[in-house]
Amino acid sequence: MTKYIFVTGGVVSALGKGIASASIGCLLEAHGLKVTLMKMDPYINVDPGTMNPYQHGEVYVTDDGTETDLDLGHYERFTSAKMSKLNNVTTGMIYESVIRREREGDYLGQTIQVITHITNEIKDRIKLLADKEMPDVLICEVGGTVGDIEGLPFLEAIRQFWLEVGSSNAIFIHLTLLPFIETAGELKTKPTQHSVRELREIGIQPDILICRTGGKLTRELKEKIALFCNVELRAVIEARDTDNIYSIPMKFRDECLDEIILEKLRIDATSAELSKWREMLEIMRSPEGEVEIAVVGKYTTLHDSYKSIIEALAHGGIANRVKVNIRWVESTDLRRGSVFSALEGVDGILIPGGFGTRGIEGMVLAANYARENRIPFLGICLGMQVAVIEFARSACGLEKANSTEFNPKTPHPVISLLEEQKKVTHMGATMRLGAYRCRVLKRSKTYEAYREDRISERHRHRYEFNNEYRDIMKKHGLVATGINPEQDLVEIVEIADHPWFVACQFHPEFKSKPLSPHPLFREFIRASEDRSQSAPER
Ligand code: GLN
Repeated sequence: MTKYIFVTGGVVSALGKGIASASIGCLLEAHGLKVTLMKMDPYINVDPGTMNPYQHGEVYVTDDGTETDLDLGHYERFTSAKMSKLNNVTTGMIYESVIRREREGDYLGQTIQVITHITNEIKDRIKLLADKEMPDVLICEVGGTVGDIEGLPFLEAIRQFWLEVGSSNAIFIHLTLLPFIETAGELKTKPTQHSVRELREIGIQPDILICRTGGKLTRELKEKIALFCNVELRAVIEARDTDNIYSIPMKFRDECLDEIILEKLRIDATSAELSKWREMLEIMRSPEGEVEIAVVGKYTTLHDSYKSIIEALAHGGIANRVKVNIRWVESTDLRRGSVFSALEGVDGILIPGGFGTRGIEGMVLAANYARENRIPFLGICLGMQVAVIEFARSACGLEKANSTEFNPKTPHPVISLLEEQKKVTHMGATMRLGAYRCRVLKRSKTYEAYREDRISERHRHRYEFNNEYRDIMKKHGLVATGINPEQDLVEIVEIADHPWFVACQFHPEFKSKPLSPHPLFREFIRASEDRSQSAPER
């Protein structure tokens, strides 16, 4: 029978509930348990696919092509659970399905209300995931902060759920913040007390408190929090700020969080096996070198937009035992005269995904700089499209080459809309999404990385390499080394005469994990490290 952990957050947002939930999943898996995780997002969008990256951060894509919250990325990176459309639920999704059922006559005669129709739908989604995955433990994270109006139906639903399954089958974990007040020189517990009081008012008594803090959570403080929040002393867990998210499972373990959870849920489990995780942390703690990678994009002030890229680069570092330092380069600011100073000295250049015209010409300049200066280059999705545009313009003499996304009237549409995309009228969930197969050409850098000729990777785009330009590109040295067999689409291109220039239409970053770094990121970092070692003193 599945046991449930509900994770809520209080005081402020962005406390790292997603990483805390993922870390709990990681620890429970280490005890030999099967886990899955679920994120409930109280916003009214059906999914985050139509949101601006500044609003939402990265949109994480699952194998089944669902556009989801970036926390699902953490879940997949920290555990072996596979995410699908069942693992992310939003208010929009819940209302959409209740309203559809109402129109279909499913509730004939009834008045449709938040309690019970909306709350029942939420509970059904939890059960649906439990029935499908049959995990030992389902960890369900409620987005937002306790006290948000939007979050209330979700909190009410998990309260009811807890009552239905019983207190030894479900627990509540509340993540809070202990702010440090400079003038008083101390950590303050009052906001935590208030947020727990708010939870208790709606009938939820947390079993465990995870307290984010910049300083040490002393025994006195723990006692105070335990007393005021009606939580056992040992269940007040310190979550000290850290610069390595992958160390969090270990920190939780030091606080015996896993043991407390197992005991409260009455689970008999094997002792924790974390040797591989520890080894990985050790490599991160004492790297044998450093490389500097320029990430050239237009959301560089908001790193959440590139969450999986940042993580995959770190994983590439782990695979090569080096630390990866990122130099953020805002493509909107790049001009012909400023490219050199912006990119001088980097060991590798990565252009990530993105939408819209702003910043494109800066990215083209960066791709050109990487190609001409033989700097390792990884282009992802938009990054590949930009590399193709650059190559067409400077190597094939197609001066005005462009993507029809940026110039619908370009005489050389080297990137153009997919046939199936031309019919699309709605914006939500209509891109080419999710896992597609790809055949890899044997004599290629890509094959050297994967050592496999059949791969599957996740996509999220509308535009694609235009096959009419395949021959001319090849003649000038840009080779299609990955092809989708069903539709004959170019998924990977490489420049043969270059130390390492690989660009892919898919998003490899979504499948990289700290214990299994993605082959393309591993090889990109390896090539960057080679460059950094062979480069003269800079
Ligand atoms: N805007 C491009 C497209 O729609 C690239 C998308 C992306 O980078 N995810 O094809």
